[in-house]
Amino acid sequence: MQNIVNFIQNTFNTKEFIPLHEPRFIGNEKKYLNDCIDSTFVSSVGKYVDQFEKEFAKKVGSKYAIATVNGTAALHISLILANVNKDDEVITQPLTFIATCNAISYIGAKPVFVDVDLDTMGLSPSSLESFLDENCELIDEVCINKTTNNIIKACIPMHTFGHPCRIDEIKDICDKWNITLVEDSAESLGSFYKEKHTGTFGKLGAFSFNGNKIITSGGGGIIVTDDANLAKKAKHLTTTAKVPHPFEYVHDEIGFNYRMPNLNAALIVAQLEQLDTFCNNKKELALEYESFFKDIEDIDFIKQPKNSISNYWLQAVILKDSKKRDEFLEYTNKNGVMTRPIWKLMNELEMFKDSQSSELTNSKYLEQTVVNIPSSVIL
Ligand SMILES: *Cc1c(COP(=O)(O)O)cnc(C)c1O
Repeated sequence: MQNIVNFIQNTFNTKEFIPLHEPRFIGNEKKYLNDCIDSTFVSSVGKYVDQFEKEFAKKVGSKYAIATVNGTAALHISLILANVNKDDEVITQPLTFIATCNAISYIGAKPVFVDVDLDTMGLSPSSLESFLDENCELIDEVCINKTTNNIIKACIPMHTFGHPCRIDEIKDICDKWNITLVEDSAESLGSFYKEKHTGTFGKLGAFSFNGNKIITSGGGGIIVTDDANLAKKAKHLTTTAKVPHPFEYVHDEIGFNYRMPNLNAALIVAQLEQLDTFCNNKKELALEYESFFKDIEDIDFIKQPKNSISNYWLQAVILKDSKKRDEFLEYTNKNGVMTRPIWKLMNELEMFKDSQSSELTNSKYLEQTVVNIPSSVIL
């Protein structure tokens, strides 16, 4: 395994500790941040927030974009706008970061887990379809889960590590069952499926700009949609539901303080300018990893799935079994190269252990065998 450590050290040009993913601030970050501070508009109002929303919508090809304090808040508001209520159910994948299920839980709704595809590591349309066929019934255009008698309101697939899932097929199934599609695109800024940007297939899409994502605002997120009415509501709900007025405080419902501060927006405007460069850099790294791991027995590099362009946000390999995985994790981490196993399945966590699940064969296999390897943009 020393050859793997050597290869990664050579690739990143250092013998020092190599983290999994570091942000890069090599553009106009300091310039815009200084300008923002000088303007005194560092909080929830300011030109960088507006500028970022416009430029982001243009970048992904959505009509509207509403910036939020983080990706979890973007998901939370998206689910409210999808009309998810207490005791409703939301279908998602068990192989995801906790934020997806947290957002569902904030509403008092319940996650239902269906399996992922092996090649995309994202929600499987065939698992989704068989789950619905076996367990659900459309009554007056409402999808009823016959085992719980609850309504399935929404479905949140996630584009794992930036690799797009089969989102067009998922959308067709959701349409057929009258389930609102919300995309958790937190990891997939810069990723396309059949030439359309991830996050723009669903009624709503949510992105994250946390410190470990492909571009960062420190903390931040954004909601995208093509629906003018939903966009207006998203902005209203994220700004404490304040009715616009020159000096009076009037709020017409219980809202949230979820607006992205201008200071964070200044940082992300500079980061967005570098997105294409970062994606190209990661693509090159992916090609190097791919050709290196071709010759390594029992370890396969995970490539972007068919019909898609991945941002290769977090690069990953798959090992033969959990024993081999553990050996790999131990050796690399002991030798200054940070690696990390994929998430524990959500249905195995205490909070979600009673959730309904379909057969999760692929998720279980990937949970045992997938490891992320250093993925930072190389300077
Ligand atoms: C990062 C991430 C989020 C959102 O995270 P925040 O830290 O709240 O910005 C949501 N879902 C997934 C899958 C993520 O990776």
